[in-house]
Amino acid sequence: METITREHDARQRTAAMRPRSAVADLRSDTVTRPTPRMLAAMMAARTGDDVFGDDPTVLALQDRLAEMLGFEAALFLPTGTMSNLCALMAHCERGDEVLVGQKAHTYKYEAGGAAVLGSIQPQPLEQEADGSIALERIAGAVKPDDPHFARTRLLALENTFAGQVMPQDYVRAATRLARDLGLASHLDGARLFNAACAQGLRAIEIACHFDSLSVCLSKGLGTPAGSVLVGSAGLIARAHRIRKMLGGGMRQAGILAAAGLYALEHHVDRLKEDHARAATLAHALRSLGGLRVVQATNMVWVEAGDDPQRDTRLLDQLVAQLLASGVEVLDRRPLRLVTHLDIGDEQLAVVLDAIAVVASDCRI
Ligand SMILES: *Cc1c(COP(=O)(O)O)cnc(C)c1O
Repeated sequence: METITREHDARQRTAAMRPRSAVADLRSDTVTRPTPRMLAAMMAARTGDDVFGDDPTVLALQDRLAEMLGFEAALFLPTGTMSNLCALMAHCERGDEVLVGQKAHTYKYEAGGAAVLGSIQPQPLEQEADGSIALERIAGAVKPDDPHFARTRLLALENTFAGQVMPQDYVRAATRLARDLGLASHLDGARLFNAACAQGLRAIEIACHFDSLSVCLSKGLGTPAGSVLVGSAGLIARAHRIRKMLGGGMRQAGILAAAGLYALEHHVDRLKEDHARAATLAHALRSLGGLRVVQATNMVWVEAGDDPQRDTRLLDQLVAQLLASGVEVLDRRPLRLVTHLDIGDEQLAVVLDAIAVVASDCRI
C-alpha cells in the first residue's frame, strides 16, 4: 500500500517537473502562458493593498469591466469558481434555491460549493445542447410560497456552454421569464467574450439581460488568473464581504489585474482567430470519416460515429498520434480540443499533420 502511494507520489512529482515539451496544448484555453507584453504590463502595474481597497490597478480593472458590461459595480476574484459562488451567495440566503442546468459548471463542477458553503439548494434542470433550459421547465420548477419548499430565488445560466453559444432570443426570453417569476438571474459568462465574438455582438448586449455576471480572464483572454463579477452596487457589496469570508481577498492583486486590463485591450478581438482555427481543425477531423465532430466557438468535440467498433479504434488512434506528435490532449471521451492564444498557425500545422498521418494510415 505504502509502495503504491510512494509510486503515485513519484509519478505526480515527475508530472509536475515535466518540462513543457508539448508543441501544442489543446487540453483547455486555461493553459496559456502570459505573453511578453502582458508580463511587461504586469511588471509595470501600480499596486496597493486591495483588501484595504487601494490597489489602483484592481480598481481600474473593476471600473473598466463594470462600464464595459453596463453594471454599477464589479469585483475582482482569484477564480471563476469563487466568482460564481460569491454571486450565488449574494443573491440567495440560507435555504433559498437556485435553478441551474444539470451539466452547468456552477452545479456540476464547483464541488457543490453553493450547497456546502452557502446552504443554497440547487434545483438542477435538464438542458439542451446549447445549455439552455426549456422555459416551461424553468417555470415548472419554481416552488410556491409554502413552508414545505425552499424559496426559489435565482436562475443561473451559462454562455458559452461547452463552447455553444446561447441564442440571444433565448437569453431575452429566459431572463424576462425569471423577472416575471420574481427570480434574479446570474450568468456564468466564463467565456462571455467568445459568445459575443461568435455572434458579432458587443459583450454588453448579452450582459444587459442579467442581474449579475461572472467573466473569466484566464480562459480565452489568456491571463494567468482572475475572474470578475459584475452586478448592482448592493449585490457587489454583499459579494465583497463573502469574498473575504472565503479567503479570496488578495493584496497586491494589481499585478494580476494589469494582465486583465491588458487582455481586455489586446485579446478580445483576436478570439475570432481561435474560432477560425477550431473550424479548420474540425474540417480536418471530419475528412477522416467515421467521427462525429462538433465545433462551437473555440471548442471541438469528437466522438465515435455510426460504426462504434471501427470508429472507437480510429478515435484511439487519433489520440495516440496527437500525443506522439507532441500535442497535449485530455484522453477522455468525448474528446475535447480547445484552441487559444498559444495555438497559432504553426501549432495548428502540427495538429493537422498528425491528423494527416492518421488519414494516410486509414487508407493503407
Ligand atoms: C472555467 C470555468 C469557470 C471557472 O473556473 P475556475 O477554474 O474556477 O476559474 C466557471 N464556469 C465555466 C463555464 C468555466 O468554463
